[in-house]
Amino acid sequence: MPNAAASRAVAALIAGLSIASSGYAEPATAYASASSQVYRVELSADWSRLTVEACFFEDLPKRLHAGSDEAYKYLEAPGIRHGTQTLAPPQGALSVALESESQTACLQYSVAVRAAADASRREGGTQSGDTLVVSPGLWLWRPAQLPDDALLQFELPQGVNVSAPWPILQRRGNVTQFRLTNTPPSWPARMAIGRFPTHEIAVGGATLHLAILDASPPADDAAVTAWLDEAARAVTTLYGRFPLSQAQLLLTPIGRQPEPVPWGQVLRGGRPAAHLFFDQTRPSREWRNDWTAVHELAHMLLPYISRRDAWLSEGFATYYQNVLRARAGLISETDAWRKLVAGFGRGQRGTRRGISLDDASRAMRRERTFMRVYWSGAAIALLADTQLRQSDAGMSLDEALSRLARCCLPSPRMWTARQAFERMDELTGNDVFVALAEQYRGSDQFPDVDDLLLRLGVIGRGDTLSLDDDAELAPLRRALMRAPPEPPAH
Ligand SMILES: [Zn+2]
Repeated sequence: MPNAAASRAVAALIAGLSIASSGYAEPATAYASASSQVYRVELSADWSRLTVEACFFEDLPKRLHAGSDEAYKYLEAPGIRHGTQTLAPPQGALSVALESESQTACLQYSVAVRAAADASRREGGTQSGDTLVVSPGLWLWRPAQLPDDALLQFELPQGVNVSAPWPILQRRGNVTQFRLTNTPPSWPARMAIGRFPTHEIAVGGATLHLAILDASPPADDAAVTAWLDEAARAVTTLYGRFPLSQAQLLLTPIGRQPEPVPWGQVLRGGRPAAHLFFDQTRPSREWRNDWTAVHELAHMLLPYISRRDAWLSEGFATYYQNVLRARAGLISETDAWRKLVAGFGRGQRGTRRGISLDDASRAMRRERTFMRVYWSGAAIALLADTQLRQSDAGMSLDEALSRLARCCLPSPRMWTARQAFERMDELTGNDVFVALAEQYRGSDQFPDVDDLLLRLGVIGRGDTLSLDDDAELAPLRRALMRAPPEPPAH
């Protein structure tokens, strides 16, 4: 075990030795040779316990933080061992102080991971088969600020996989290495450890790490992979590439459900990750016809937006779930408009006198003002997109989001809608975003799209909806639903 005089070279040695012991004798320098913090995690043979060794080779942190006030419950006695000391966080503690003369140290602790996963399941999480599904916030004790080079290494029994939100550096044999990224410890995330298949989907310059959890009956692996591949490709019709270089996709089959994909979410801890819960007993065309996968992936176009501003994050994902599916040929242009017009109608019906969009967003979960919030945001997206396209050839909401991705994604901080809109105005040399937000956030009126729809040539609604190619803005309408040209290969 390295002592307090450990150096970066020891980090390489640890990683190198563990690889060698699993039968892959590679030069130690190939692994983690320059990490100033290394977290090694092993799973016990009975899958009940994670044993963690955290080594700090520079600047020993003053405190270690967990992501949940329940984490102390699963830390096994005597706590975090630091040489001859042990640190036992009190009940409900989110952090524990480290006192040391030295700037370097290796700490060890064990976590009752099965118990943590069982508790998460009782609180509405999901579990399939033996798979452990658990929040990293329940077991990972780390400094509030991580260096850029922190390494997290899982050493798991043969055939056991891990799915987690952090960028994967490599998988080799039973060892998986992640770059531990610097999002706040409290940001939600979900990881899975178990005997499930993983697939890499290469799309638009990104690698999506897909894990399909085991279930009875099992999901059709190839069909699920094709579904996510298709959804991710639809997102690349926005600006020719995927907004992130990599992402975790965790797919949980949950048996018979009234809908093909009843639930999805994007969690931001570590890196943005999409979680989809689906009925694996249905034919794959039903998942593919469902909007949820494209909606969740479209959330990755924006940074983490404050929940108080849900109209922005949900609105943009809702707008693009229809636009992107039309561009990818998954639905027709007419169908996309039919869905948008129907949604605007639901949003209008959900709009109450005296309740502003900001009020509705803040009370969304409590008051169930989802339709008002989602579709007001989608209407603002349509208004912004058409105004940008009219203001300047080559400008569009796609281009604004492309520039936002280039400047700012992935982002380790939470943004307000105002910050995102100010940045997008700045990046596009406009004031379209802030002006629209000022017009509608404090208003108790649904954003005014009726006149715009007529000018676009979107006539009527439902089964009788038709598109008028002679309308003033018909070319703009067609351009909205058309994929941009393929980017040059490089
Ligand atoms: Zn959403």
